[in-house]
Order: sequence, then C-alpha cells, then structure tokens
Amino acid sequence: MIVVSACLAGVHCRYDGGAKPNEEIMALVEKGEALLVCPEQMGGLMTPRLPSEIQNGTGEDVLEGKAHVVAKDGRDVTAQFVLGAEKVANLAFACGAKRAILKAKSPSCGCGLVYDGTFSGTLREGNGVAAALLLQNGVEVETR
Ligand code: SF4
Repeated sequence: MIVVSACLAGVHCRYDGGAKPNEEIMALVEKGEALLVCPEQMGGLMTPRLPSEIQNGTGEDVLEGKAHVVAKDGRDVTAQFVLGAEKVANLAFACGAKRAILKAKSPSCGCGLVYDGTFSGTLREGNGVAAALLLQNGVEVETR
C-alpha cells in the first residue's frame, strides 16, 4: 500500500472544502493500492477550516516541541497536527507502507518545501508535520 493525501484522491478535505484530484493518485485508488489519509482531519480539525502554517520552524521542529502550527486567526493547532501525524504514521506502520505520495507545500503533507508561517504565500525549505514523522519512521515521501 502507498499512503496518499486524500485531497489528491479527490476527497474534499482541504481547508477550503476543495480537493486537488491527481490522475496518478486516482489510478492508485482504482487499483486498490492507495491508503487515503488526511492528517488535519484525522487530528480533529473541521473542514472547511482556516489555513494553518508552521511558524518559526519545520515539521521536525514541531514534533520536537520547538515550533508551533498556527491557524490564520492565531489559534494554536499544534496538538491537532501532531495527533494527525501520529495517526497517519500508525496507519502506515499497520499496513506495512514504505512509500507515501503527499500534497506539496502543505503544513501537514508537504515535503521539501512548506509555507513559511507568514501567510504571504512564501515558501521555505522543510517538511510538513505528517511528512516529517513518516520520514522519521522510514517511509519514503514524495509530493505532487
Ligand atoms: S492535510 Fe494533507 S491530505 Fe489533508 S487536505 Fe491538507 S494536504 Fe490534503
């Protein structure tokens, strides 16, 4: 099984209630090879919801308690992001998944680049919280 961001499989779980369907991911779903996850929903956040960004760090920093995830209205949603990441990592482990294809730039799912916490559309190097935890657990992560 391959862990995939549910929004790439057409699930309307994005912060704005939308989806980002991707043909490659939809094909994996049709073949029964995709394990759909949405770490933000799995952490207890509603859809739609305000966008959130990691402030003053990366997903790894969030997992170490050195940075926070904050919604656009200033609410701290770190606990929900960490809980969602843990649930995703547990599911990946339970299914023996060694590969994940996640949504680029997301504060949960992004890998390599994420928004910088200023809500200005600026990117910085780093991983989202769920991507970081998957990587720490030996799962290969790529994004679309
Ligand atoms: S948390 Fe990941 S799966 Fe959920 S909407 Fe955001 S990018 Fe998609």
